[in-house]
Amino acid sequence: MLTIKVDTALCSGHARCAAVAPDIYILDDDGYCIADGIKVPEEHETLAKRGARACPERAITIVEE
Ligand code: SF4
Repeated sequence: MLTIKVDTALCSGHARCAAVAPDIYILDDDGYCIADGIKVPEEHETLAKRGARACPERAITIVEE
């Protein structure tokens, strides 16, 4: 199981994460990612990692638990 960490100080609302994985990287009304702390089931891990790599601010970290 992976956990997503989003550094809200770094997130600039580019929405690239959500463009790659919209079911994982949920955005608020202003386009900022609010996926901090969510758990990703095994079958979505590849997509979650791809979304994290798409973030130009490097705001997303994925933690293995
Ligand atoms: S791609 Fe990065 S900066 Fe853009 S909304 Fe997602 S976490 Fe925030």
